Amino acid sequence: MPTIFDQAVRDRNESAWLLPNDGTRTNHRLRRDMRRFDDTDEIDLVIVGCGAGGSVLAQRLARKGWRVAALDAGPFWDPDADWVSDEAGSHHLYWTEPRVIAGDDPVPMGSNNSGRGVGGSMVHYAGYTPRFHPSDFSTDTDDGVGADWPLTYEDLKPYYQAIEQELPVAGERWPWGDPHGYPQRPHPVGGNGEIFLRGADKLGITAKVGPVAIVNGRFGNRPHCIYRGFCLQGCKVNAKASPLITHIPDALSHGAEIRANAMVTQVVVDQRTGRALGVNYLLDGRERFQRARMVAVAGYSIETPRLLLNSASRRFPDGLCNEFDQVGRYLMVQGAPQTAGRFDAEVRMYKAPPPEVSSEEFYETDPARDYKRGFAIQTVSPLPITWAEHVAAQGHWGRALREYMSDYVHWSCLGSLCEFLALPENRVTLADEKDAHGLPVAQFAYSQCDNDRALMKQARTVMEDILHAAGADEVITINRYAHLVGGARMAADERHGVVDRNCRSFAVPNLYITDGSVLPTQGSANPALTIMAVAARAADHLTGTA
Ligand SMILES: Cc1cc2nc3c(=O)[nH]c(=O)nc-3n(C[C@H](O)[C@H](O)[C@H](O)COP(=O)(O)OP(=O)(O)OC[C@H]3O[C@@H](n4cnc5c(N)ncnc54)[C@H](O)[C@@H]3O)c2cc1C
Ligand code: SF4
Repeated sequence: MPTIFDQAVRDRNESAWLLPNDGTRTNHRLRRDMRRFDDTDEIDLVIVGCGAGGSVLAQRLARKGWRVAALDAGPFWDPDADWVSDEAGSHHLYWTEPRVIAGDDPVPMGSNNSGRGVGGSMVHYAGYTPRFHPSDFSTDTDDGVGADWPLTYEDLKPYYQAIEQELPVAGERWPWGDPHGYPQRPHPVGGNGEIFLRGADKLGITAKVGPVAIVNGRFGNRPHCIYRGFCLQGCKVNAKASPLITHIPDALSHGAEIRANAMVTQVVVDQRTGRALGVNYLLDGRERFQRARMVAVAGYSIETPRLLLNSASRRFPDGLCNEFDQVGRYLMVQGAPQTAGRFDAEVRMYKAPPPEVSSEEFYETDPARDYKRGFAIQTVSPLPITWAEHVAAQGHWGRALREYMSDYVHWSCLGSLCEFLALPENRVTLADEKDAHGLPVAQFAYSQCDNDRALMKQARTVMEDILHAAGADEVITINRYAHLVGGARMAADERHGVVDRNCRSFAVPNLYITDGSVLPTQGSANPALTIMAVAARAADHLTGTA
């Protein structure tokens, strides 16, 4: 029986009801009957990248009657045929094209930071969907670090609410930032979540269940979660939200074309007028050109700046939108240390979704500390291969590694997200190395600052304290990174960023950027919900309803 809430969501995004209701996961008819544009049609908008930002934009504009084609370099996934509930078997979900890493603290690329194919990185993201705090939008004014957004939290709030309903998000009432509730009740928690709640409670730290974009109960034709813990392998069940199931079906039913396996190589600009004409792309080994009235780039924080730099021309010799040397700069990654604790009783952390419980108690700047901004703590629950990586990163090998592996069911694991600051020298440039298509690959240089290091040290201490308080007899902590954002940030003017508050590029009036690259700061929240909200807001601006 549909609820009033279900009906309200369905009226603006029918995706969950367009999925099949017969035990399969893909609406093949919708894909087969998809509208197909010709390269020579001047469509209203061509979108590069079908992930968090690109898919929301496609769905919103298709609903408004725009002629939209979204091109993605990867496949149009079919969960039944393409995905397996198996760590090793899911490697093909990641963007594993070559990238060069540099700087004092280089960031490893691959499974942990970007995806390929329709749905983007959210296909194998964990599923946490917190909002940013109001303070994230004015860190320069308030703390003298990071940047002020040309937007406020209040500008984004209605879009947060809308996307939370469309995913939908489950969780307890959220006491941090702008306190708010969620459309679905919190999920029951497994062993890892219980340990986090117990340890936090003993230390007087508030921790809450959620917020996760995993359906709690049936939603449209999406079944509820079966708690088998393969969220980072694509969720074959369709319980975990990703644009592949939450926005693409509705986009297709409103006439959008999703062109998979189409690698965009260049945004083409009229050298006389400076306006975008469309994009060059490769499909089935052939070079093609899609003409369009407008172009939106949403290829992720590494590939978006790379594409802009690879789109240099006579009029834009240093790369598109790069007259003020802003493209690729202020790229951010969150410090993501991970602490595991051993318990005599079995924990079996794999028997639940990895995203279960979080605390944002340490999110804001604490004047008593010698660093600015803060961190969040969440359950992470690695599966065996990722657990082996955790143990090996601690220096254990051979027999010791085998012993830790056979003891896997006794371990619990927490992760932090530390707000590393946006710095101009942390950036994407083009490397000398070329990819299989002969295009220069991205070089990503990253170095931490003292604030980053101090923050990460404190996050490690708090996680270890929580696990000890919960009864762990041994804890092991490693440093990691997560969640790249920035690289084409929004700003008040073209000397400080690449796009304006509506995601429109300063340099090319009919070119938009609508992915995580536009974020000027990152808070210590997981970014996907904010990326989708920013894209939904840009869509309203484009259709004149903002
Ligand atoms: C392991 C993992 C866990 C994560 N967990 C969480 C979490 O719990 N919560 C959260 O909020 N976030 C999480 N994230 C991050 C989140 O998934 C990303 O921040 C978000 O998906 C980024 O959105 P985007 O639109 O910028 O890019 P993406 O979603 O990555 O989409 C970019 C798309 O562009 C395509 N593309 C790139 N270049 C081209 C080109 N030249 N031509 C055509 N197509 C192109 C790619 O194939 C891809 O599909 C996680 C990410 C990973 C990898
Ligand atoms: S635990 Fe739930 S959300 Fe995660 S993969 Fe399994 S069914 Fe999907």
